[in-house]
Amino acid sequence: MSVIDLMKKDRYETPKTPVAFEVTNLNNFVYDMQHCIKCKGCYWVEHTYNPGVKFNTRCPSNLWNDFDAYGAMGKMRIGLAIESGKLEWTDKLLEIIYADPLCGACDVACKRNLDLEIGLTLEALRIKAVDDGAGPMPAHKKIAQNVATTQNQYGTSESRVKWLTKDIQVAEKAEVIYYVGCSSAYANPGIAQATAKIFNAAGVSFMLMKDEKCCGNTLYSGGMVKEAKAIALENIAAVKASGAKTLVTSCAECYRTWKVDYPKLLDIATADLGFEVIHLIEFADQAVADGKLKLTKPVDLRFTYHDACGVSRLCDPWTPYKGERGWMGMIFPGLRRRRGRHGLYGQARNVLKAIPGAEFVELIRIRENAFCCGAGRGTKEAFPELAKFSANHRLDEVKAVGAEVIVSACPRCNSNFAQVAKEDGDNVKVMDISELILASIEV
Ligand code: SF4
Ligand code: SF4
Repeated sequence: MSVIDLMKKDRYETPKTPVAFEVTNLNNFVYDMQHCIKCKGCYWVEHTYNPGVKFNTRCPSNLWNDFDAYGAMGKMRIGLAIESGKLEWTDKLLEIIYADPLCGACDVACKRNLDLEIGLTLEALRIKAVDDGAGPMPAHKKIAQNVATTQNQYGTSESRVKWLTKDIQVAEKAEVIYYVGCSSAYANPGIAQATAKIFNAAGVSFMLMKDEKCCGNTLYSGGMVKEAKAIALENIAAVKASGAKTLVTSCAECYRTWKVDYPKLLDIATADLGFEVIHLIEFADQAVADGKLKLTKPVDLRFTYHDACGVSRLCDPWTPYKGERGWMGMIFPGLRRRRGRHGLYGQARNVLKAIPGAEFVELIRIRENAFCCGAGRGTKEAFPELAKFSANHRLDEVKAVGAEVIVSACPRCNSNFAQVAKEDGDNVKVMDISELILASIEV
């Protein structure tokens, strides 16, 4: 028998183990946790891209706390020990697991070499913490309580459409539905107004959800999967009942939740949601290309763009998968891994480069290598000092490239950067992409 035949025999006769990616079972990720070789590739930006010694890291959690426990490699070992019963939850372990914006940088980095599902493992670890009665953090419990009582994460009884001004035209019935989200509805009304005005300027009729509710992003991110699933079912049913064909968000976190987390929770494909989920970035890119949106008004500023995680490496569509792992860890049938390649990197830049009069300069860490602002997935509420540290580090990068303004496509990034810049007396200004687009439209 030839060596090739022996290898084939081995490949087909090696006992197979089932492979599944349901995040409700940490045991599904034992292989991934066991095969982390602690190379720390998840900490550094791509080696082939490494921009030098200053801005070359990608893990906010591990940069904030030097102990490797805070990096993905540490959390893989903690997860393994928790799953095998060798370690019990403590306050310190919970801090390590939750002081983390789940930004996905480690996931795309690790897949460069090993194809391990690090991001899903981190989510499964939080779900396990909640199942075991240890998680989530008190701040996340408070948000869950707010959502249950007021349908928004801030716990306010104010109107959710307070942002809606008289000059904005909203249709009763339309193919496009704008899902505003708690952060734009309450904390960043300027983003909701700018988005609605962009629809109006493009001549695209849109409606709002009747009694819009929180998307449940923080609940899912905190590991409260049962509550998040109930919200997903309710929200999806509401969109289907509205008859909308396309749901547009202006928030990177809502976008990821609708497009990826809902299908993941319901074990369906993104394509089977029954409607399309897009971000304003995609809408604007298409509208500019079709000539519906005319960016003609010069905007005199030098700006840079922050690739928010939810519209970048975290938004590859979800497809359910079940298979088997055999020889050399290979899995069958073949799996199309989620590597962050569906990020809206190009679409955002198409729009930004079309803004007349403005000078666009790139940050040092961009696209899959972008450094998270540190606010997302309930991090700012539970660990404000980590969110501040991350934003500060990113603002240093903005200053290093000489930009006056940092533009993002997420109200969570927006609030975090703005608060930190104000507290530290930075003269970097913060804008949302919707606000910059609106500034360049003659309305
Ligand atoms: S998680 Fe992946 S990239 Fe990070 S240390 Fe482990 S094997 Fe290396
Ligand atoms: S998700 Fe982001 S912050 Fe968390 S371990 Fe991975 S790179 Fe670090």
